[in-house]
Amino acid sequence: MIARDGTCTSLWQAITEPYIPANKADGDITYDVVLIGGGITGISTAWLLQQAGKNCLVIEARNIGFGTTGGTTAHLNTLLDTPYADISKNFGEDSAKLVARAAREAIELVKKNSKDLSIDCGFKDMPAFVFAQTQEQANDLDDIYLASAKAGLQLTYTNRIPVPIPFKRALIVRNQASFNPMPYVYALATAFEKAGGTILQDTRVTGVEEDEILTVTTSSSSFRARAVVFATHIPIGINLLHLRCAPYRSYAMAVRLMNKKDYPKGLIYDSEDPYHYYRSQEINGVTYLIAGGYDHRTADEENTENRFLQLEAYLRRYYNIKEIKYTWSSQYFEPADGLPYIGSLPGHTGNIFTATGFGGNGMVYSSVAAIILKSMITGEPDPYKGLFNPNRIKPVAGFVNFIKHNSHVAFEILSKIVPAAKMTAFVEMAPGEGKVAKYDGQTIAIHKDEHGNLHALHPECTHMKCTIAWNTAENSWDCPCHGARFDINGEVLTGPAANNLQTIHLD
Ligand SMILES: Cc1cc2nc3c(=O)[nH]c(=O)nc-3n(C[C@H](O)[C@H](O)[C@H](O)COP(=O)(O)OP(=O)(O)OC[C@H]3O[C@@H](n4cnc5c(N)ncnc54)[C@H](O)[C@@H]3O)c2cc1C
Repeated sequence: MIARDGTCTSLWQAITEPYIPANKADGDITYDVVLIGGGITGISTAWLLQQAGKNCLVIEARNIGFGTTGGTTAHLNTLLDTPYADISKNFGEDSAKLVARAAREAIELVKKNSKDLSIDCGFKDMPAFVFAQTQEQANDLDDIYLASAKAGLQLTYTNRIPVPIPFKRALIVRNQASFNPMPYVYALATAFEKAGGTILQDTRVTGVEEDEILTVTTSSSSFRARAVVFATHIPIGINLLHLRCAPYRSYAMAVRLMNKKDYPKGLIYDSEDPYHYYRSQEINGVTYLIAGGYDHRTADEENTENRFLQLEAYLRRYYNIKEIKYTWSSQYFEPADGLPYIGSLPGHTGNIFTATGFGGNGMVYSSVAAIILKSMITGEPDPYKGLFNPNRIKPVAGFVNFIKHNSHVAFEILSKIVPAAKMTAFVEMAPGEGKVAKYDGQTIAIHKDEHGNLHALHPECTHMKCTIAWNTAENSWDCPCHGARFDINGEVLTGPAANNLQTIHLD
């Protein structure tokens, strides 16, 4: 099993052995490109660049798949989270067509890689279904139909959906797909190394010094590069993109059903906000129903475990469940204007790149990023004409609320700090509980583990000093502002923080 940035076990993590790199990183040479982050974005981009003749080094803080790639649900869909009607309204109809084309080309790239490298990742073409259960949702579905058809998606109305849930109206979208992301990423990593690339795991990048040649500093040594790609899901350090992306958590489970015929064939979405999503996955002869939903802003939910209970209760309403095999949650970053940020990192020299703000579509946008960044770094024109440029200024409706919500969540956490007087003693905390408390004149983040041991940390996130909040489901400290996450000992799990939390020794 590989490690992931949480204590719950995902389906993909459970079935994956650690990746063992073949080549050794060399501190004496200048790499053409250093890619930071060994998720699907870093590895897909590294593979395209190495094929294009660039000598690349991928540096991963923990292990390949440690981030959201190991906690995804792996739908490959051109029907994206941001409705084409919104993309059309904010960016114009031609841009909506370009986004649809980019998503299509991304799925084709995953398909081609799977075929060319004979990857045993169960890549399957399949339709997607989206259904409405109320009249209001049905009206929205009509808008989705019109705008998606205009953008070039092949979709029609249908009176059948492959889930036993009552509905008013439904659409079927052709040419979508699903796959198992971990064998896919591993096969790309192996091919990348065979082509001369290098992967360095267990090494956290702490910064990039800018000069004609860039110096990438890490927890152990430094490396020189002509270009750097932040494929860290959100760039580390302090950047404009931290204002333009908001961290969200989503909850998933892989369950076995009593009746084989109940496993749905297709990708399925309802029209709730946030929506529930479903699909089936066969691994080693065992089929699972993977369902997800109950998303919320990171640190905006006190009882995160409750989200699993809600998801389970929802599933049990419609399915006869034999076994709940895996439950997990993971994090994604929602962009302010609905489109991801792929290209030059704002405020830096042109040879530092980023790919973030994928929302719930990073399986697709990671390949869009690979295509764009490969083009930019090899001096070819961006095939999507700068549409995803992170430096764009797009003041869309709701942007101010988006920013306001950031500070609101941070304030909420501060207002929940428990004064010692109210918390008679930490002894009263239940095992597994975590709290931010005032104790002996200072504010501390305290967690009681299942053996009754207390772990105390300085509660200021090392990224931008927001106050962290406890996440019961994944046993982590999460920052509401920009999504940095830390384990019970204060070690960074998720960026943008690059430094651990300070520990506090309690007598
Ligand atoms: C529950 C859930 C379900 C989802 N389902 C879907 C889906 O069905 N379809 C879809 O298209 N998308 C889905 N997504 C989104 C998608 O999974 C992600 O967008 C995608 O996995 C992001 O990949 P990545 O490589 O960019 O980031 P990650 O996989 O997070 O990889 C980033 C890597 O960078 C490393 N890193 C971070 N900081 C540093 C540093 N300083 N130094 C070195 N390394 C560092 C991390 O350890 C990590 O391994 C889902 C997201 C969630 C949360």
